[in-house]
Amino acid sequence: MKSNNTTQHNLTNFIDEQLINEEIARAENPDKSLVREILDKGLERNGLTPYETAVLLKNKDKELDEAIFETAMSIKKGIYGNRLVLFAPLYITNECGNQCEYCGFNAKNRELDRRTLTAEEIHKEVEVLENQGHKRLLLVYGEHPKHDAEWIAQTVRDVYSVTSEKSGEIRRVNINCAPLDVEGFRKIHEVGIGTYQCFQETYHQETYKKLHTGGRKTDFLWRLHAMHRAMEAGIDDVGMGVLFGLYEPTFDVLALLHHCRQLEKDCGVGPHTISFPRLEPALGAEIAFNPPYPTSGHEFKKIVAALRIAVPYTGLILTTRENAEFRRELIEVGVSQLSAGSRTYPGAYSDPEYDRPDVQQFCIGDNRSLDEIIHSIAGEHGYVPSWCTACYRMGRTGEHFMELAKTGFIQEFCLPNGLLTFKEYLEDYASEETRKAGNELIRKEVEAYDDPKRKKILMDRLARMEAGERDLYI
Ligand code: SAM
Ligand code: SF4
Repeated sequence: MKSNNTTQHNLTNFIDEQLINEEIARAENPDKSLVREILDKGLERNGLTPYETAVLLKNKDKELDEAIFETAMSIKKGIYGNRLVLFAPLYITNECGNQCEYCGFNAKNRELDRRTLTAEEIHKEVEVLENQGHKRLLLVYGEHPKHDAEWIAQTVRDVYSVTSEKSGEIRRVNINCAPLDVEGFRKIHEVGIGTYQCFQETYHQETYKKLHTGGRKTDFLWRLHAMHRAMEAGIDDVGMGVLFGLYEPTFDVLALLHHCRQLEKDCGVGPHTISFPRLEPALGAEIAFNPPYPTSGHEFKKIVAALRIAVPYTGLILTTRENAEFRRELIEVGVSQLSAGSRTYPGAYSDPEYDRPDVQQFCIGDNRSLDEIIHSIAGEHGYVPSWCTACYRMGRTGEHFMELAKTGFIQEFCLPNGLLTFKEYLEDYASEETRKAGNELIRKEVEAYDDPKRKKILMDRLARMEAGERDLYI
């Protein structure tokens, strides 16, 4: 890949606002035949251009909106089957020197109880999460000058070092922290992070400037080039995102897609995941109670569906910011990864007095425990929860992963591996009720498996799990 200069005046803005506005203007009031044509193209699973995506978002015909949802559902089923990857966020620090007008951690918020976990506290939090059955964590950090890349790397090591009874271990640590320089990214790559995640929040420069009034995050271009630098440092899997509610959603979706394309052009592969948080109320952040561009439920669902069609092989991540019922709808139209049982402040999982608005980043929409969520998605809706980390541990990441994903590999490997991790969860952590419902789902899934050779391998491994072996994957 080309080297990405890290000094500000060398960084270019590859988000062409004029081009995006033209694409949106061209997409207004689209012909029904054009929308249908784009949906047919989408079904080929080669993705869509930003303009084509804008056409879907600008469609106002109700029947065609349903067709957009159905197309997204069919792509989702075809590529991901009924598997859902689960993770939990782990907040390491809420100390932050930035002034993001929408976030409860912003430096101006004097009401917030500031905390940074010590190694011992990290240990406690991870133990609680492991004992619930989690295997994949997303570490979240405010941005403070006293916390450098070496410190972040150490917190990752701390998390990986915690093992507890049964199958308790964290097998993939993803991180969401402020952009680093290439050297810093190298440090966190070396300690074995999975995905590096960073959201641009909004790609509209003027709005970005208005909402980020102090601290390192004021530098739009430094953030825009974070993914390039992460990849230059050897991190294969990166996660992008937009915070919806800050600016005009169609603009931000298109800009995000242009960002994906630029990364693919320069680094050979686009993002591994995309996130789309919606602004949630947060104490000490007025704008979060009154978003300048509120995105309705329907509009938001269309964004998720359009992204599923536009970038079919990119993981789409949904957090507990959304409530349980709406999360189910969004899973149907494209979401492939879900956070579960989340708490959003440092120390929250081991806090006996949990429910402290004065320390958390924002309010959570889905408060159910991991077991309750699993009972619902598996028992009632037939989704297979997965904690699989096989690809990452077998080096199937970045470009290599994308190539494999396009050959039906997700169904061939991810589903059986997902079932194996689900079995592990049921054996070690599930409530009686969830175990019963889960085992029934596994039975049905195995029965429906059509490749006899693979079915036998899977059945053998499930039996070995029942006999006490752990961490089996294909
Ligand atoms: N400090 C790092 C940064 O800003 O990139 C990473 C951690 S920050 C807590 C993670 C993300 O939370 C932000 O990128 C933003 O999109 C999201 N966020 C901030 N305030 C929010 C709010 N009020 N509601 C929903 N999401 C919010
Ligand atoms: Fe700090 Fe990140 Fe919150 Fe901004 S979004 S105030 S950088 S934690």
